[in-house]
Amino acid sequence: MRANAQRMCVACRLKADQSTFFRIVSAADGRIGINPGRALEGRSAYICKNISCYDLALKNRSLQRSLRRPVPEELMQELKELILKDTKRREIV
Ligand SMILES: [Zn+2]
Repeated sequence: MRANAQRMCVACRLKADQSTFFRIVSAADGRIGINPGRALEGRSAYICKNISCYDLALKNRSLQRSLRRPVPEELMQELKELILKDTKRREIV
């Protein structure tokens, strides 16, 4: 695996390793998913595991722009819950 494959957050433009971000994948067949692993291949967008980046992306429609397609509200909701869950987990640790 290639080291230092840098990804960029669609909201704050931070560049970091892929593990820093949630990955949203839009497949050619119209499916869209968060961190789908190898189940889904397609155009990817990355966002920090950070509610401020979520809010910014929601406001600026950054994910939609990056993926060049509409992003369903359910997916945004799912992403928000993942971020909140991750934030809570990190606060406990
Ligand atoms: Zn960010």
